[in-house]
Amino acid sequence: MKLYNSATHTKEEFVPNHPDIVKMYTCGPTVYHYAHIGNLRSYIMEDVLEKYLGYLGYNVKRVMNITDVGHLSSDADTGEDKMLKGAKREHKTVMEIAKFYTDAFFADCADLNIKTPDVVEPATNCIDEYIKIIQKLMDTGYAYFAGGNVYFDTSKLKQYYVFNDFDADDLDVGVREGVEEDTNKRNKNDFVLWFTKSKFEDQALKWDSPWGVGYPGWHIECSGISMKHLGEDLDIHCGGIDNAFPHHTNEIAQSESYLGHKWCNFWVHVHHLNTTSGKMSKSSGEFLTVSLLKEKGYDPLAYRFFCLQSHYRKNLVFSWENLDNAAQAYDKLIARIAALKPGDGEVDAAALTELKAKFTDALDNDLNTSLAVTALYDALKARTNDATKIAAVADFDRVLSLSLIEKAEELRKKNAGPEEEHDERIEGLLAERAAAKKAKNYAEADRIRDMLAAEGITIIDTPQGAKWKRA
Ligand code: AMP
Ligand code: ZN
Repeated sequence: MKLYNSATHTKEEFVPNHPDIVKMYTCGPTVYHYAHIGNLRSYIMEDVLEKYLGYLGYNVKRVMNITDVGHLSSDADTGEDKMLKGAKREHKTVMEIAKFYTDAFFADCADLNIKTPDVVEPATNCIDEYIKIIQKLMDTGYAYFAGGNVYFDTSKLKQYYVFNDFDADDLDVGVREGVEEDTNKRNKNDFVLWFTKSKFEDQALKWDSPWGVGYPGWHIECSGISMKHLGEDLDIHCGGIDNAFPHHTNEIAQSESYLGHKWCNFWVHVHHLNTTSGKMSKSSGEFLTVSLLKEKGYDPLAYRFFCLQSHYRKNLVFSWENLDNAAQAYDKLIARIAALKPGDGEVDAAALTELKAKFTDALDNDLNTSLAVTALYDALKARTNDATKIAAVADFDRVLSLSLIEKAEELRKKNAGPEEEHDERIEGLLAERAAAKKAKNYAEADRIRDMLAAEGITIIDTPQGAKWKRA
């Protein structure tokens, strides 16, 4: 499989570090609010990547953090902790907010058929890991203490910017418009590893450390959690494109300085879901959630389908019209699958191999999901029997996760109308009633009718004999 690596700016053949495992790390949500459907675009595409690696036979171990401390309102280490902001907004404690929005996040993931990673670790669980890394960075001169905080010294690095798809001038965090400069920093890109002094003294969660009571910076979380569960190297690190700088850049700086060697091979960044007026973001307060889509009558999987129709390295523009088109196409797709006849012949192995080849060719080329969806339509149009088509759909859906077979089955049942129910006792009573009527014993016939009526069962007399149904 070829995968675009943001760190080398090329599509590279994916080769894992170890033959028996693929180590994959994903930046998890900051749980101060609902995830918006932009965030979930990133998680859908990462889910496809994880499932496709599994489809290819790799044994993937995937780890994700839950950011419940340290993510400040600006990625440049200024502003209030987002969690604290969320707690104040809702008059709850930070931990209550974290629990509520973590649960909400996984409920959204379940609606979108996004698999829960093998390890999900809240940042507040791993304080010792961060302290261990920061201590070594202090001891080796990569970090310094200033004004009550511990900072990473970016001047100690040969190369700080890794993902230089970016213009360095635009990315100087310390000088971006609207970002207050932190005068403790020796270099404008230095970033906080541990806070004991921030402008916001009412920080809810604090821990003891060699540098005083405080809390970790956001970036150190992902390095610490990844190393705790995946060791000293990583195959793939994913996140939305906004995470590339400064978050992932800082993760690389601190991790490689700590380890003394290369840390992660592949950096996979999902581009943004934008609205017609710009990037969808939580902080703007105006964003769309899975619950809102459901309230409006959309199947969340229609949104997944919408995401799969475009490449993860292109921005995707959300509009209701675009979603409507995807929802209609999704319904039509289900209807076409429902019209296939499961018992129609044996699976033609050679034809199935050919159909699968189109599907894997698409995904092998930097996870081209829109072509993989085309391969699905091609399978439905192919000159082969229905059993083979159904086998192809079921196979592709191991990766696409659109519940195609289940939804088609539901539709088939719905179209067939309610099934006739059989019950020996009730049918025995109907036979007794028929015999009573034949013997002109109408009192007995009525008694049986009334008895069944009391159980909520209605008798319908038809020319073919009496039938029954539950109320
Ligand atoms: P957050 O909860 O803000 O930490 O973000 C969770 C994930 O969503 C991160 O990987 C972000 O890079 C990603 N993300 C944020 N906004 C968008 C967007 N509009 N489209 C796609 N991914 C996004
Ligand atoms: Zn992260």
